[in-house]
Amino acid sequence: MNTKTLIAEARAAGRPVLTETAGKALLSEFGIAVPRSLVIQDAGEAAAACAKLRPPLVLKVVSPDIVHKSDAGGVKTGLQGPAEVEAAVRAMMRAPKIQAARVDGFLLEEMAPAGQEMVIGGAHDPQFGPMVMVGLGGIFVEILADVAFRLCPITRRDAEAMLDELKGAPLLEGARGRKPVSREAVVEALLKVGGEGGLLMTHGRDIAEADINPLIVSPTGAMAVDARFVLTNDKSHVGRETIEEGSTMASLSSHVSPFSRETGESIVERYRPLFQPKTVAVVGASTKGGALPNVFIRRIREFGYQGEIYPIHPNAAEIDGLKAYRSLGETPDPVDYAYIAIAAAQVPPLLKEARGRVRFAQVISSGFGEVDEGRELQDELVAAARGGGARLIGPNCLGIYTPRGRVTFTEIGPEETGSVGIVSQSGGLGTDIIRRGLSRGLKFSGLITVGNCADVTPNELLEFYGADPQTRVIGMYIETARDGRRLFEILRAAGARKPVVILKGGRTSQGRAAAVSHTGSLAGDDRAWVALSKQTGCVLAETLDEFIDTLLVFQTLAPQPGHPARRVALFGNGGGASVLATDCYARLGLDVLPFGKETVALLAALKLPPGTSITNPVDCPVGTLQQEDGRVAEKILDIIYGSGKPDALVMHLNLSAFAGRTRPEVLDNLVQAALRVQARYPGQAHFVLVLRSDGDPALEERKRAFRATAVALGVPVYDEMSNAGRALAALAAHERFRSGGGR
Ligand code: ADP
Ligand code: MG
Repeated sequence: MNTKTLIAEARAAGRPVLTETAGKALLSEFGIAVPRSLVIQDAGEAAAACAKLRPPLVLKVVSPDIVHKSDAGGVKTGLQGPAEVEAAVRAMMRAPKIQAARVDGFLLEEMAPAGQEMVIGGAHDPQFGPMVMVGLGGIFVEILADVAFRLCPITRRDAEAMLDELKGAPLLEGARGRKPVSREAVVEALLKVGGEGGLLMTHGRDIAEADINPLIVSPTGAMAVDARFVLTNDKSHVGRETIEEGSTMASLSSHVSPFSRETGESIVERYRPLFQPKTVAVVGASTKGGALPNVFIRRIREFGYQGEIYPIHPNAAEIDGLKAYRSLGETPDPVDYAYIAIAAAQVPPLLKEARGRVRFAQVISSGFGEVDEGRELQDELVAAARGGGARLIGPNCLGIYTPRGRVTFTEIGPEETGSVGIVSQSGGLGTDIIRRGLSRGLKFSGLITVGNCADVTPNELLEFYGADPQTRVIGMYIETARDGRRLFEILRAAGARKPVVILKGGRTSQGRAAAVSHTGSLAGDDRAWVALSKQTGCVLAETLDEFIDTLLVFQTLAPQPGHPARRVALFGNGGGASVLATDCYARLGLDVLPFGKETVALLAALKLPPGTSITNPVDCPVGTLQQEDGRVAEKILDIIYGSGKPDALVMHLNLSAFAGRTRPEVLDNLVQAALRVQARYPGQAHFVLVLRSDGDPALEERKRAFRATAVALGVPVYDEMSNAGRALAALAAHERFRSGGGR
C-alpha cells in the first residue's frame, strides 16, 4: 500500500497517528530499512508466523491507546521460537495497561543487528515548514536533549554537521571499547527522511511530527525498529508547494519576480524608484505645517533631495511653498515614491486613484493588520495598491533612509552612501539602528522600515540588497518571517557571498507574546532560526548592540574565506582585561595562544620595562606604552605582524589609564602607530581596535575622534574586548562557512 493511501486511511479512521506498521511501510517506501514483520491476533497464530520469520524475534503490542509500548509491558525482545512467542503474547494480554487499552493485535518482527540506538525525528515549524532532527536514541532523548535540528531539505553536509553537533557523537566511533558503527548509514537515513525528495519534503503537509526511535545503527547499516507519525490536522501548513519559483542572489542579473515578468526588469532596476526616486509625492501634509509629512518634506530638502516633490491635498493650492495636487493621479509626472501619512481608512481610496502612476507607496499610517479591527482594511489596502499598480511598503512603518536618493525619514542619517543595507520590521528600531550605528561608524546603503509588510516583504528587500552593487553587508530586523521557507531558499542559494546579519525579535515564547501584539502575527521557533543560521551562514545577533558590532566588522574587514580566522593576538594595556578576553575568546572558538620562540625573542630584544608581558597576550603597562611618546607600539606591532602572524590582532587601549598621567599626544601616537602598521600588512590579519573608557566625557570625546579616524581607514573600533571578540567570531564563522567547513 502506498503512503498516500496509508495517510488517507488513517485520516478517514479519525486516527491522528499512523500505526507502527503503517509508519514502517512509509519509511520503507523511502528506502529506510525496517525489520521483516507480521501482525498476529493471538497466541494461536504464533507458530505459523514464526515459520516465516528468522529468530530472534520481538513481540510488540499494537494499540492506538498506547504511546510507549515498553512502559505498558508491550515489548518483549529476544524471542527464540513459537513457544516463547506464545508465552509472550499471553503475558502481554495480562498486563494491566494492555488490558485497559484497545488492542489491534501483536507485531512480531525480526530483531535488528545490534548497535547504537539513535533517534531521527521530524517536526513542522509554522514559518519554515518541515525540520529534521537527529540525536542519541533511547528513553533519555528528552532528558539529555542532545539533538540537532535542521530545516528541510538538508544536504549531505548538513547531515554530517548535525552528527558533529551531538555531544554523544563519539559513541558512533565506538567509545569505551565498543565497536564503531556506520556513521554513513545515519547520514543516509537522515537524507532519506529530511533531504531533497525525502519523506518530510514529500509528505511535510501531512506530517506534524515524526519519531524514529530507535534507529539501530550497526557497523554495517541502520534499521528503523520503531516509527511514530503524528498527522497534521490543519492543511494550511507551509510546505514545499507554497514555495514560489523566485530567483535568488545566485542569479541576480536574471531576476524575474511575479511583478516584473512582463518587463524582465532586474530587481535593482525595479527598486531604483524607491531608493533613488525622481519624483516624491507626500500625502498628509497640512497647510499649517507641523504634521509628520510636512517634517518629511523639510527633511528631504535639507538632505539635498533634487527631484520633484508633489504635496497631495484635497483643496490646498500650495503646501510649504510647493504646488499641491488633488490626487496621486493628477501629478505632472508619475510618482516614483509616495509617502503617505493620513487616517488609515482614507488610504485605500487614495491608492485606487493612482491609476498606475505610482511605483512605490510607503504607508506610514497605522490601524491596519497590527490590530484585529484593521485586518480587513489591510486587505483592502493591498488590493487598492495592486489595483492602482503600486507596490506597497508598510503600512505601520516610519519610512526610508536612502542616502543615494537623498530621501530620509529621520534627521540624523549621514549623507554619505555606505555599504550596509538594512531592512527593519520596526520603525523605532530602524531609527535606533541609524543613530547607534552612526556613532559606531556604520555607513548605510539604505535602511527601510517595512512595518506590517503587507506587500513588499523583508525577503524581497533581502533579494534587492543581495543584488545591489552598493550593498556589501545586509542587516535584517525581523519579528515575523511570514515566508520563512522563502527566506531559507534565498539565503541558501546566496551561499553567504554577502554577509547577512539577522536580529530576530520574538525568539523566545515570551518575546513571541510581545511580538504578537506588535506586528500582528506569530514569530518563528528559535530552533528553526538556529538551524537557518547553521545552514545558510547568516549570523544571528542577540541584541541591537551585537547586531551593530557584527555589521561593523563586515563593513570594515574583508572576509578571508580561504583562511578562516582562528589565532588571535592581543596587545594593549590592562593585564586583567587581557586575561578575561583570553577566556572569552576561547569560549567563542578563537585561540589566544602564546607566540613561538622567535617572536618572543624579537619582542625581548626590544628590552621593554619590567612588568611587560611579551608572550600572547602582549600586555604593556602604561609606562611601557609611553616610551618614545607611544611610538614603541609601532615596533611591537611590526613584530607581531611580521613574526607572530596571527589571523587577527586586537589592540586594546584603556584610555582611562592614560588620563592625567600622560602627555596627550601619546594616545594619538599609539593609535596612529597602530593604523600605520596595519596599513603596511594589507589583508594579512584582521585588525581590530578596542578603546576602553570609563565614561568620562573628555575621554569619550577623544574616543569618538579616534573611532572616526580608524573606521574611515577600515579599522573597526569596539568599546570592549568581548564585543570585539563576538564580532570576530561572527566573521570567522562566516569565513568557515564560505570555505565549506561548516560552522
Ligand atoms: P516503545 O518505544 O514504544 O517503547 P519500541 O518499538 O521502540 O517501543 O521498542 C522498545 C525497545 O526495544 C527499543 O528501543 C529497542 O531497544 C528494542 N527493540 C524494539 N524492536 C526491536 C527490533 N526489531 N530489533 C532490536 N531491538 C528492538
Ligand atoms: Mg520506541
